[in-house]
Amino acid sequence: MLTEHDLDAGLRGQTHDDIICIADHTKDTHGEGQRPHASGELNWPYGVPFRCLLPQEFDNLAVACRGAGFSSLAASSCRLSRTMMQLGQAAGTAAALAVRTGGPLAAVNPADLRASLLAQHVQLDWPMSADLEAHLRNEDA
Ligand SMILES: Cc1cc2nc3c(=O)[nH]c(=O)nc-3n(C[C@H](O)[C@H](O)[C@H](O)COP(=O)(O)OP(=O)(O)OC[C@H]3O[C@@H](n4cnc5c(N)ncnc54)[C@H](O)[C@@H]3O)c2cc1C
Repeated sequence: MLTEHDLDAGLRGQTHDDIICIADHTKDTHGEGQRPHASGELNWPYGVPFRCLLPQEFDNLAVACRGAGFSSLAASSCRLSRTMMQLGQAAGTAAALAVRTGGPLAAVNPADLRASLLAQHVQLDWPMSADLEAHLRNEDA
């Protein structure tokens, strides 16, 4: 379960070995009685671990949407479309790896998943790696 503690720790403080996307939107709660937006600014991007996509009691199902394992406060930040799209890319990549290795999604090796996402030019580090920066510069040219 991604929580407010992950958001506050940021990539510098998180120790998860299965981070599959990074996000940085403010804690952006809505509705009556919610915290004011001004208190929600983040100092640093944080990562979403792959295991947030894996519901307990299922070993071959990935939830790549707002229904993934997020506390309500964490969801107020990571619910953005761009983050949801990254979850989809990670889930699809994990499914392909699971098919290749013949195991369930829950058994996908986090290091292999991250390596595959990095090879697809997904940003998993902050600041951005020199390789990714060069790739984006070439794409823009
Ligand atoms: C008014 C509003 C403004 C927003 N503004 C922004 C913004 O500016 N920037 C931003 O990043 N985010 C914004 N968001 C948040 C963002 O759009 C959502 O958090 C994000 O789209 C959630 O992605 P998701 O994949 O979980 O769900 P969704 O994007 O809702 O995708 C779910 C999809 O599943 C489909 N579906 C549902 N049931 C079925 C079914 N039974 N069979 C087949 N398909 C089904 C739906 O039609 C939908 O296409 C906004 C949200 C709202 C409501």
